[in-house]
Amino acid sequence: MQSSNTLNERSILIVGSSEGIGREAALTYARAGAKVMILARNIAALEQLKRQILSEGLSSPTTFQFDLESQNEDDYRRLAQHVETQCHTLDGALLNASLLGARTSLTDYPWDTWQQVMQVNVNAQFLLIKHLLPLLRRTGTDASLILTTSSVGRQGRAEWGAYSVSKFATEALMQICTQELGENSPVRINCINPGGTRTAMRAAAYPEENPTNVPKPADIMDLYLYLMSPDSTNICGQSIDAREWRHPNA
Ligand code: NDP
Repeated sequence: MQSSNTLNERSILIVGSSEGIGREAALTYARAGAKVMILARNIAALEQLKRQILSEGLSSPTTFQFDLESQNEDDYRRLAQHVETQCHTLDGALLNASLLGARTSLTDYPWDTWQQVMQVNVNAQFLLIKHLLPLLRRTGTDASLILTTSSVGRQGRAEWGAYSVSKFATEALMQICTQELGENSPVRINCINPGGTRTAMRAAAYPEENPTNVPKPADIMDLYLYLMSPDSTNICGQSIDAREWRHPNA
């Protein structure tokens, strides 16, 4: 793990941080000195995370209760304005929220679930990128945008339906954004594939699995910290597996 102040004074938004990997990432970034903004629907869970961060004597986080099922672009515009009010320039954003949806064949896949997954995992990610990029660009030097992919976003898998399709779209969003940012951009964008990680989503996807055999979110935080820190300034357009990754200086 890098030095404890590697994100000193940086403002970082973590989308989907009430539980699981996003919660652990918010804690990791706060412990590294960042001022974190935490976003999800479950405000009680966000307030609990805020209390934990404060109890460790870290910078007070800002909480945003926000539902990514909203299809109204103005909601995302307003969210970006609230973020701007909090921090003026945004140094980093981790887009981590996703829905698993149904684990069934395409012929049985419920249409309403398909739309819900595509809204949260694809449409909302697009609207977040669209409205957060101007804030990230304002840092002028070194801002990091991280999207969250999955191995089923690189190779389609039976009965993973909308989730698998949505993660292919995540990879495409990252690649398109990389090209549009061009060289010498102050913003870099990358994808993290956490790999199997002990969370509510993993338990829903693999109910028969013994969770104690699966790595905890805390076990994969080195890559989350590295890609958010100035150490990774020259890394852009990559899709990296957290479980296999080792720090270049290790
Ligand atoms: P969890 O289901 O544990 O957490 C998901 C987070 O997303 C929660 O904080 C949830 O908050 C938030 N979220 C979901 N829907 C919405 C919504 N409509 N509006 C706002 N926030 C929302 O997921 P994981 O921690 O397991 O996964 C995190 C990321 O990693 C996901 O993108 C997932 O696809 C990816 N991933 C996970 C793997 C694993 O094994 N765990 C493997 C590969 C990829 P709330 O309910 O409060 O809104």
